[in-house]
Amino acid sequence: MAPPVLPYGRQTIEDDDIAAVVAALRADFLTTGPMVEAFEDAFAAKVGARHAVACANGTAALHLAMLALRVKEGEAVIVPSVTFLATANCARYVGAEVVFADVDPRSGLMTPGTLAEAMGRLDGRALRAVMPVHLRGQAADLPGLASLAARAGAVLVEDAPHALGTTMNFGDLTEMVGDVRHSAMATFSFHPVKTIATGEGGMVTTNDPDLARRLKTLRSHGMVRPDGGEPWWYEMPEPGFNYRLPDILCALGLSQLGKLDRFAGRRRALAKAYETALAPLAPLVQRAAQPAWSDPVLHLMCVLIDFAAAGRTRAEVMGRLLERGVGSQVHYIPVHRQPYYRERYGVLHLPGAEAWYDRCLSLPLYPGMADGDVARVADALADALG
Ligand SMILES: *Cc1c(COP(=O)(O)O)cnc(C)c1O
Repeated sequence: MAPPVLPYGRQTIEDDDIAAVVAALRADFLTTGPMVEAFEDAFAAKVGARHAVACANGTAALHLAMLALRVKEGEAVIVPSVTFLATANCARYVGAEVVFADVDPRSGLMTPGTLAEAMGRLDGRALRAVMPVHLRGQAADLPGLASLAARAGAVLVEDAPHALGTTMNFGDLTEMVGDVRHSAMATFSFHPVKTIATGEGGMVTTNDPDLARRLKTLRSHGMVRPDGGEPWWYEMPEPGFNYRLPDILCALGLSQLGKLDRFAGRRRALAKAYETALAPLAPLVQRAAQPAWSDPVLHLMCVLIDFAAAGRTRAEVMGRLLERGVGSQVHYIPVHRQPYYRERYGVLHLPGAEAWYDRCLSLPLYPGMADGDVARVADALADALG
């Protein structure tokens, strides 16, 4: 019988998580109840932000961020090309134009250098937002990106689903991804492969009370209840969406959040074990680079492989890994290559993103992996590369 396949990522759901959901199902509110604020308050406290606003998923979080900032049609939003589709798509939801930034080919991250280059391709558009992605869980250079964005009159919005738990040291201070010291907002996702899971779910953190209020209004149809109005009265100054996260899932999120430190510790330990196990495969297999300021809780175990030197295609290597029970994935196909964006903006050449894409492969990484699994993956990879 074939061995069970280790996926590249998966959720860890335990009995008390299930009990928390059952309790929410037995309570008075399935949605718009007390679990929403309980999850939001706990999340804000955990990452060190003043406000956290829960929403339907990470894509809704990004869309709400664009709406809250009033990003408008024809304005420019800079997004690194190596990210999930949603980071770019949210700009299009509000009619803004995406300007793709290149990334560092060793880390996969947008840098002040690649941001500055992208800022030279705005074609006269007003730059409204810059959206760094903490790819894999490695923190981008937030102070460097923030000062460039500020000089251009643009706002920083971090797309942070990979980096829940990651800390950063830019000076004497230890900061946490999501504390939004350098940006207007940070967005998170609780998709099952992310660090904590609610099935579908998202969060926006901000330190700005006006943005927090707008995010909450926009996630619920744009409805507001003015002070002193009649008991039934509501008004809609602008249309919003139904992007609420139900109490059932907020209860699960709150339970999962209580385990973040344990999950993070496990991810850190597994990443360390990978470092040792993969060292003999250098230089064919190399760790993706870690910026000096970043102390990551890795979401993805990306390695960079010289497939040409190995004489095997990535598809062949992934196929051989799968035969040995090891799942793998590619993060990501550069978004500027997608047919929709190619058609809209023409063929772009972003050499860093192309180089990253040519070599990257994500190996299994999740808290439920057994201690022996890392060695098993490394053996399978050595075998797959010949
Ligand atoms: C997961 C993810 C999203 C989207 O989150 P969903 O909850 O799946 O909508 C956006 N950006 C990045 C970088 C992600 O990893």
